Amino acid sequence: MADRDPQYECDLCGLCCQDVIVEIEQADVDREPRLLPMVYPLHGLFGAHLFRIDKRYGEPCPMLGRDNRCGIYETRPDVCRRFEPGSEKCQELRIEAGLPRLKASGGNGDGGNES
Ligand code: SF4
Ligand code: SF4
Repeated sequence: MADRDPQYECDLCGLCCQDVIVEIEQADVDREPRLLPMVYPLHGLFGAHLFRIDKRYGEPCPMLGRDNRCGIYETRPDVCRRFEPGSEKCQELRIEAGLPRLKASGGNGDGGNES
């Protein structure tokens, strides 16, 4: 029997909602209109329907709560849904911030910053 892939449980360090520019699409805004005031189009770069939340200056995503949980978890952008705890990028962010690598667990790891 093949080994199961390791599973990781997000420990809510919050780094993936602080240090990554989140590119979101029109469909994300249609699903969650509260994203609209904080995004702007990237005309000419990737197409007219692509937006981003700008976190270049170290500001966390405005939807990130003080408890490091996403305030719009159920309707968060697709790119956030695809971000997996324990992924290469997750581990990279943790190491850069001086945190230990996220350890695999038997828990039911879900993608992104869980709420
Ligand atoms: S998961 Fe939520 S708080 Fe984190 S970047 Fe996405 S929208 Fe922002
Ligand atoms: S997914 Fe990774 S980087 Fe993001 S909050 Fe969880 S442990 Fe931290």
